[in-house]
This record gives sequence, structure tokens and C-alpha cells, in this order.
Amino acid sequence: MTVLVIADHDNAELGESTRAAVTAAKKIGGDVHVLVAGKDAGAVAEAAAKVDGVAKVFHADAEPLEKQLAEAMETLVLGLADDYDAILAPATTTGKNFMPRIAAKLDVMQISDIASVEDAETFIRPIYAGNAMMTVKSSDKKKVITVRPTTFEKAGDQDSAASVETIDAPEAAAASRFVSEELSESDRPELASAKIVISGGRGMGNGENFQILERVADKLNAAVGASRAAVDAGFVPNDYQVGQTGKVVAPELYIAVGISGAIQHLAGMKDSKVIVAINKDEEAPIFEVADYGLVADLFDAVPAFEEEIGKI
Ligand code: FAD
Repeated sequence: MTVLVIADHDNAELGESTRAAVTAAKKIGGDVHVLVAGKDAGAVAEAAAKVDGVAKVFHADAEPLEKQLAEAMETLVLGLADDYDAILAPATTTGKNFMPRIAAKLDVMQISDIASVEDAETFIRPIYAGNAMMTVKSSDKKKVITVRPTTFEKAGDQDSAASVETIDAPEAAAASRFVSEELSESDRPELASAKIVISGGRGMGNGENFQILERVADKLNAAVGASRAAVDAGFVPNDYQVGQTGKVVAPELYIAVGISGAIQHLAGMKDSKVIVAINKDEEAPIFEVADYGLVADLFDAVPAFEEEIGKI
């Protein structure tokens, strides 16, 4: 059994989600190899070689791999696929883009967004927006799997680094090209990996009121999230959205402010370790998943909370 993990990265740093995918790969068993496909991503390959349990790293460096476009990744991964029983990638924006293409080309079923590895053929994954967990047994000879990063421990570092082998990146079909990307700049931690997240919903009333949450976030070194209703109302950009159609987060602490707790929102945050909800409606469904609930007007409760943090 040999497993290939395709690394998620930004060409400068190895994504934490890759460490989660390595943990999943170790549970499948056998040797774990990592593919770092990118442009000038040598430092990422070095970092991948140090991840605990990694036996070998392949490093492919080419312009079309910079953004891991699906066509370029397909050509590269299919060139390696014969040697592997399972191919894993974190279920990130890029992984979710290229993995279905690889599965289709290998003529196997993709096993998406796994939350647990039972054995080399059996996996558990959420369905119905996380309201049910499905056990999937695959008889495909080669498994193509995306891994939900928030549900696996992040593998640490090992004492001695694995070898890094440079491989050629084959010419990819030029069916698509990277045009541009717009990334929002923030000094706060990234929403998907932050240890503390404070999110606002429609109850915030408008975008300006999100400053109340931002002040708390700055004191707690937290990321700011939002419900879809808050995003749709234009209070905050859509990369703030947590939920079924937004980001899936599982921080140590999730504070939901003025959020009712619709199932589509819960799908993105209910695995958080501690959930705190502030809502003026005591019947709000968010209180069913909250570890601590405060029935209060957020415009009183959040500034009072901020003041208390200031005393610490
Ligand atoms: P509301 O449901 O309007 O709740 C606002 C809450 O604020 C209420 O509970 C109210 O009591 C409280 N409140 C109001 N004023 C105050 C105050 N002053 N102090 C304290 N509390 C106050 N939603 C997501 O969040 N993420 C998703 O990814 C997502 N994906 C979806 C996908 C699909 C296919 C569909 C159909 C829906 C999706 N939704 C998603 C939308 C979801 O169904 C809800 O509409 C949305 O989550 C509601 O957002 P909300 O809780 O902010 O708003």
C-alpha cells in the first residue's frame, strides 16, 4: 500500500491542511509520499519532507503549476498514479478543483471530504450539509480522496527529513489559464485555521456594526466570520461566510453573534470545540448547539464582553 498526498500550499508555505491529509494517509496505512506541485515552491517541498510519517516528497516546478490549475495537475498526477493505491488532497479550494478531474480520468469514484478513515477501503464523510455521516466502502482499486482538514489532527514534524525528488512537470493542455485573483488583506488570522472565530449574522444590522466584533477579534487574536444572511445583505465580503456554502471551521472557540443557527450555518461550525451564542431570541436554534448561550441584545452584550476582556 502506498499513498500519495498532494500538498496544499501558496508556493511559499506548506498549508496546515496538508498535515491533516498526511494524518488521514497514515491511517490508510503504508508508505506516505507527498507531491508538491508549484512554482518556486522549494521551501514547501523541504517543509513537506519534515512532516511526520512522510517517506518521500516529489517536487514539480513549472509555471502552470503555480495556481494548481486542474489540467496541469491532471497531467502531473496521472503520470504518478500507477504507483499509488490512494491519492489524497485536502478539500481546499484547489483540491476540490483538481481532484474530481483526476478521479474522472482514472475512471474511479471520488470519495469526497472524508472526516474519518475506518480502514483502507472504508471512510466516513458528512452528507446533507453535515446533518448525517455516511460510511462509504470503496471497491475501486485506486482511491481518490479529498480530506476535510478540520477533522484530522495536523501531523507534526519528524526528526529526520524524507528525501525530496525533483520531477519534470509535463506540458499541460492549455484549456484554461490563470487570469487573476483578489485576496482580501487582513492582519487577523485566516478564518479556516483561526483558533478563535467570532461571527456575526443578520442581527448585526449593518456592516458598520461589524466593527463591534472586529474590536473583540483584535483583542482575542480571532478571525471574523459571518452568516450567509450577513454576507447577502452586503454587511461583509463573501469570504467571511461560514457554512455549507462558505468555509468550514472548527476553532477552539466559536462565538456566534446575532446568528439564528440555520442548519446551513451549523454545517460550517458545529465541530468547534466550544460554541458561545449571543442572541436576543431564546428560541433561536443556535442555542441547541451552543455550550454557552447568552440571551441578550448583542449591542449591550458584546461591548460589555469587550470591556471585560480589556481588564484581563
Ligand atoms: P437570521 O436567520 O435572520 O437570524 C438573525 C438572528 O439575529 C435572529 O436569531 C435574531 O434573534 C438575532 N438578532 C437580531 N437582532 C439581535 C440583537 N440586537 N441582539 C441579539 N440577537 C439579535 N447560511 C450560512 O450562514 N452559511 C451558509 O453557508 C449557508 N448556505 C446556504 C445554502 C443553501 C442552499 C441555503 C438554502 C441556505 C444557506 N444559508 C447559509 C442560509 C441559511 O439558511 C440562513 O438563511 C442564514 O444562515 C441565516 O443567517 P442569520 O442567522 O444571520 O439570519
